[in-house]
Amino acid sequence: MAYDFDVIVAGCGPAGAMAAKAAAQAGCSVAAFDKRKELGAPVRCGEGIGLHWMDELGSKLRDKAISAEISGSVLVSPDWKNKVTIRNAETKGVVVDRKVFDKDLAMDAGRAGAQIFAHSEVVGVLKDGNMVAGVKAFVDGKPQEFRAKAVIAADGGESTIARLAGLNTVSTLYDTDFGVEYEMVNVECEDLIEVYFSVADAPRGYVWIFPKGKDVANVGVGIGGMQSPNAKHYLDRWIKAHPERLGKAQTVAIKGGLIPVGAPMTEGAVGEGIIVAGTAAHQVDPIHGGGICLAMEAGKLAGEVAAKNALAGTTDRAHLLEYARIYEKGPALKLLKRLRMRKVLEKLSDDDLNAIFSHLDDKDIDNLLKSNFAAVVGKMGGLLMSRPGLVKTISALA
Ligand SMILES: Cc1cc2nc3c(=O)[nH]c(=O)nc-3n(C[C@H](O)[C@H](O)[C@H](O)COP(=O)(O)OP(=O)(O)OC[C@H]3O[C@@H](n4cnc5c(N)ncnc54)[C@H](O)[C@@H]3O)c2cc1C
Repeated sequence: MAYDFDVIVAGCGPAGAMAAKAAAQAGCSVAAFDKRKELGAPVRCGEGIGLHWMDELGSKLRDKAISAEISGSVLVSPDWKNKVTIRNAETKGVVVDRKVFDKDLAMDAGRAGAQIFAHSEVVGVLKDGNMVAGVKAFVDGKPQEFRAKAVIAADGGESTIARLAGLNTVSTLYDTDFGVEYEMVNVECEDLIEVYFSVADAPRGYVWIFPKGKDVANVGVGIGGMQSPNAKHYLDRWIKAHPERLGKAQTVAIKGGLIPVGAPMTEGAVGEGIIVAGTAAHQVDPIHGGGICLAMEAGKLAGEVAAKNALAGTTDRAHLLEYARIYEKGPALKLLKRLRMRKVLEKLSDDDLNAIFSHLDDKDIDNLLKSNFAAVVGKMGGLLMSRPGLVKTISALA
């Protein structure tokens, strides 16, 4: 069989760029296709990431990719009476500029030897029998076929490539969040991410203010897919209701998108000759919807497994399942724990949330967010005695 590349990556966001780099570093010939003219743009993201990830992923952030440094987060109760500030090594982060950040990741892949095809949409998959054997992509406006031993689908929430290959990557409406965000100026910012919980203001989600500079911020809302009206309605209403915080703010950009917040895919993300990585495989934090670094982590793993098997001539599903086996022992375990927590959080009323905020201190809330449930459940005795209705909900965490 003649192949144009060992590995083809469809979609060159954080997952795809990391996959392309890892496969090229492993010695494969790699092509990465992205439909965008300019990688990273338009931005559809709050752009917040934890700094610890960069070391873990062996990735370096260029100063130019950083819009603002973050020392921690402020979590605000629905009634605004309680604010919890968490600052520790794990909350150190940055708000990146994804127009720079994504392009930097693609440049790293290019430097490692991957061939990058920007403005080249993948519109089909090639098959040899039941084996995925490449892609059909529009390059320079013309449809062309590119054969490869393995394909990595990293095309984000739309996840059309995996579906073209016959994998079911649909995220149900219940397990999908919708996010809308304005980039705003005249927003006074500290080096803290602000998170506002309120079922009334953001059902199954939260409102966020992520600083992008001294007076610039991403202001957004994420809500569950079954909610109506739409996320923009909730965001506009929240901004209008809080003139003390955003009265002078002006919108300079509108962004939005969907976020799969159900269980991350593992075995289901692997087919004959194909691996799915990143948001396309629902590898997103189910509570806050963050997925940039999770996508990078999964993409790197997908690139390594695809490369190893492409070089050995073993890109059948049985061999590529190594990706799922590694993923389910590590990242998926954490995400499934977070999913359990999300399912508890979404049952709480604003009244419950206000009571929890007033009973727990900063450390407890931090524990809760790190899924250290046992430590927190013990501390909640008094609260649970006064709110028997909460017992059943919270006991799901023990
Ligand atoms: C409103 C909102 C706010 C968010 N805020 C945060 C946040 O603050 N922090 C965080 O960590 N995460 C956040 N996320 C999630 C984060 O954006 C994603 O988890 C992350 O981008 C996933 O990376 P990815 O590489 O899997 O997919 P993407 O970043 O979506 O990249 C997919 C790439 O594939 C390309 N592509 C798609 N189809 C094709 C095709 N057919 N052919 C070729 N190329 C194709 C796209 O152009 C794109 O470049 C947010 C998401 C939303 C919607």
